[in-house]
Amino acid sequence: MAAILIENLRKSYGRTVALDGIDLSVPEGSITGLLGPNGAGKTTVVRILATLLRAGSGRAEVLGVDVAAHPRRVRRLIGLTGQYAAVDELLTGMENLVLIGRLFRMRAAEARRRAPELLEAFELTEAAGRLVRTYSGGMRRRLDLAASLMTQPRVIFLDEPTTGLDPRSRRALWEVIERLPRDGTTVLLTTQYLEEADRLAGAITIVDRGRDIAHGTPDEIKELAGGARAQVVLADRADAERAARILRRHGDGPPGIHDDSVIVPVAGGYAVIPGILRDLDAAGVRVSDLSLRRPSLDDAFLALTGHTTSTGEEQGHARLGDAQEARAER
Ligand code: ATP
Repeated sequence: MAAILIENLRKSYGRTVALDGIDLSVPEGSITGLLGPNGAGKTTVVRILATLLRAGSGRAEVLGVDVAAHPRRVRRLIGLTGQYAAVDELLTGMENLVLIGRLFRMRAAEARRRAPELLEAFELTEAAGRLVRTYSGGMRRRLDLAASLMTQPRVIFLDEPTTGLDPRSRRALWEVIERLPRDGTTVLLTTQYLEEADRLAGAITIVDRGRDIAHGTPDEIKELAGGARAQVVLADRADAERAARILRRHGDGPPGIHDDSVIVPVAGGYAVIPGILRDLDAAGVRVSDLSLRRPSLDDAFLALTGHTTSTGEEQGHARLGDAQEARAER
């Protein structure tokens, strides 16, 4: 049985179409990534599954339970963690977890037994007695995730869990998320970080403008972008147009110019490299680096959608979309 099943899900906010017929199936015990740029509809999917929002039409089920027909039953099965930690600043880490447990009607003794286990698992034991106000962003996210696991949900939604975290905190959270399926927990992870989906998710569904446009393992998705690419880094970026004309002759598709690099899809793999170098050399184009690389998820996204996603580098991590800073400041 699929832990999460969505069929032809639609949702509009006034005239804005947020979901335009999405399908999704998440196997039990897996981590599945919902990858897409800002505004693609990821949060809307999660909010419908978490019974916080009603769909316009279509079907959404969690462990076989219809979210629209039985929202209370669904709520007992799920956990939700968002981008903004929902923990109380004026309580300690331990107090937060016990409180959450009590709110979900756990017995006091059970809440007091489970809370330290989770604090230990998320490396928060030392900070357990400190007010959350003194926690770093990464510690808050870990506590927030721990809070959503107090009731041992079978399905957990992680909505952009690492957005705004520094690389070290992000990696620490990844290690925690990676372990969740070991207890049979199913994870639906939304992210705009390509690297995050690649690292954590066994399967990825790419969403764009309210539609699912591709589904597969990270490697299968990359395959959709076609074969390898040759990337030439120029000593002088003024040579880019000239280099692109030369690469067009050797490539398997149109070359693209990115800053001081020219990238072209190549069908023949390494065999094309000597010819490229010879022709660039003959034209007097100086090359500071030349490499052959497999397509990235970002290449796949561009190939699939046909529109640019202005991929940025933030803290060394590629992402889709560029409204991240605006969001982090909100
Ligand atoms: P993000 O990465 O920014 O969270 P997302 O993929 O989660 O993006 P959604 O938040 O689901 O995208 O938004 C999908 C579309 O619906 C966007 O065009 C957004 O502007 C719009 N939208 C979302 N919530 C509302 C709302 N409450 N009222 C009006 N429009 C909304």
